[in-house]
Amino acid sequence: MSKILIIEDEEAIADLEKDYLELSGFEVEIANRGDVGLEKALNEDYDLIILDLMLPEVDGFDICRQVRQEKNIPIIMVSAKKDDIDKIRGLGLGADDYMTKPYSLKELAARVYAQVRRSVMQGFIIDHHQQSLTAGNHVIPLSQKEFDLFLYLLGNPGRILTPDELYREVWRTGKPDTTNSVAVHIARLRRKLDEVGHLVGSIETVRGEGYEFQPRSEARTRL
Ligand code: CA
Repeated sequence: MSKILIIEDEEAIADLEKDYLELSGFEVEIANRGDVGLEKALNEDYDLIILDLMLPEVDGFDICRQVRQEKNIPIIMVSAKKDDIDKIRGLGLGADDYMTKPYSLKELAARVYAQVRRSVMQGFIIDHHQQSLTAGNHVIPLSQKEFDLFLYLLGNPGRILTPDELYREVWRTGKPDTTNSVAVHIARLRRKLDEVGHLVGSIETVRGEGYEFQPRSEARTRL
């Protein structure tokens, strides 16, 4: 059974949501304060978080930011102010969906279903805003060059890519790579992919020729 955490200071709303989601087949816990919610979110296992923006102690912005640094749980952010929703979208905090209050419980349950289904799918997420790769429960930050290199590899799966080509396309210079930057960055990227290789794919060395990316699953993009 999927487990949901509702972080919401309006107790009446939180209770209604809990009842409805439980009837819809979810297990639900509530935190009525931001600091309590953040602690639960970081230390316990949930499949999804419904996160109110305005909260006592720690607000939804901070909670979203801190959870995102450590976990890849779907987060639905809710707020009474549409302006705030637009603002958080713009900040690219990494929430997966946003809802403006008031919303119907049916609508909420539909969004929850959609997110939970999406997150159990195999795959990984490329986050352009945070310049990171998310797979399983791992969030892997990448440097600018690592990110660019990874995108190029992803865009050319199963093809042998010479160091010259990678240097030309990723570093965007016509000069040959005299400093061995490609090899160094490939090595770093490989180390970072190590734990999530079974979800993402691997960078194989083709002796005397270059590198070949072998994907394991589809990437999704979070903007
Ligand atoms: Ca609130």
